[in-house]
Amino acid sequence: MYDHLIVGAGFAGSVLAERLASQLGQKVLVVDKRPHVGGNAYDHLDDAGVLVHKYGPHIFHTGSRRIFEYLSQFTRWRPYEHRVLARVDDKLVPFPINVDTVNQLYGTSYGPEEVEALYRERSESFPHPKTSEEAVVGKIGRELYEKFFRGYTRKQWGLDPSELDAAVAARVPARTNYDDRYFTDEFQAMPADGFTAMFERMLAHPNITVRLGVDHREVDPRSFRQMVYTGPVDAFFEYRFGKLPYRSIDFRFETHDCERFQPGAVINHPNEHEYTRVTEFKWLTGQVHDKTTIVYEYPTADGDPYYPVPRPENADLYRKYKELADATPNVRFVGRLATYRYYNMDQVVAQALATFDQLASHEPDPDLVETNREPRHSDVDLGPSDVIPRKPGKRTSFAA
Ligand code: FAD
Ligand code: UDP
Repeated sequence: MYDHLIVGAGFAGSVLAERLASQLGQKVLVVDKRPHVGGNAYDHLDDAGVLVHKYGPHIFHTGSRRIFEYLSQFTRWRPYEHRVLARVDDKLVPFPINVDTVNQLYGTSYGPEEVEALYRERSESFPHPKTSEEAVVGKIGRELYEKFFRGYTRKQWGLDPSELDAAVAARVPARTNYDDRYFTDEFQAMPADGFTAMFERMLAHPNITVRLGVDHREVDPRSFRQMVYTGPVDAFFEYRFGKLPYRSIDFRFETHDCERFQPGAVINHPNEHEYTRVTEFKWLTGQVHDKTTIVYEYPTADGDPYYPVPRPENADLYRKYKELADATPNVRFVGRLATYRYYNMDQVVAQALATFDQLASHEPDPDLVETNREPRHSDVDLGPSDVIPRKPGKRTSFAA
């Protein structure tokens, strides 16, 4: 008899399994229907021996010391600050938009104040932006929105930004400084031996049994007392209220017989091509290899569920499933798909640790509540703890 059945060996499931086993001495069975642990953060060596992320590029970043220290028990880290270039008007420019982006695009030599003035002059008035279109146009105006956001968002979601919550585009700031990093969190690093090795160490506790290639419906319900479910919430309830929309991606990998393929880790293509972005993994992993592997991301409506789609009608449908979930005894729903939230890895870890605190009847940890707050605007808020720019300047938030 197991104390807990954990469905899914991604961040949500693995963190909870590790905590329940190591802190409460519980016997835990982890099942995943895939043939590997790690969920969507799974990485592996491809046929050429290049370390790749099977489900698209995963870069770890968090503002929470507790989460970073928690994961540090299971991995060493390779310091890594992510940078992205966007191909716009036949130029490769830094993204998120910063002072250099504006200057390279327009052939100007503006400073932070002039760029701030440019955003202000061009922005349209949306005092309470509800959609991603309003959030971006309300801060930087329509021209930059059309160059960097509209096309990318349409490809990524199959929806116009006017049909998506403001929080989607608000994940990406527009800056009035020279910071060309994608994230500004205090902790930014990649697991030194990869994500999968980190998950294997988390799950190596003697109280934990892992069975791969197993759907939870194959597990005898009499063999466990409680369940943590981290798969899609609508699937758990057999789509009783209809399917919750999830966005999927077709990942197309290519290995090239050269050490470097492109001039940065990720190149975004907002306007041309069917794919949104191209990632070259060796930039992220630091691996030294005479070949290199890249991945193109083609968003699709069908396929594995990767992204919840943040818009009001989907939130309404999710609420119905949440009521069912709350009324289901002895089952906890945790993670990106089980709670239908556009969460990064650190937020899922925070949610899992907070769930563990509840199960163990600990007091809520304010640090976890903060990491997990929704919508999350830590990448876009202005504040004294923000990055120190090379020259004075500040960042513009798309957040309401
Ligand atoms: P998952 O990783 O989805 O794990 C759920 C597991 O449950 C899966 O392995 C699934 O097989 C299993 N499962 C489902 N149903 C069943 C069932 N019935 N029986 C058995 N097993 C089942 N976050 C970042 O912080 N940084 C990034 O750079 C980043 N990049 C991303 C890029 C892409 C393309 C995507 C899709 C996501 C990215 N994320 C990133 C988000 C990150 O992947 C998630 O936050 C995190 O992996 C979610 O963990 P989870 O445990 O909630 O879910
Ligand atoms: N986005 C965009 N242009 C870009 C990058 C992002 O319009 O070049 C928008 C798009 O709607 C995207 C959202 O911002 O879905 C969030 O981007 P992020 O890079 O956080 O997406 P993820 O890494 O989760 O796919």
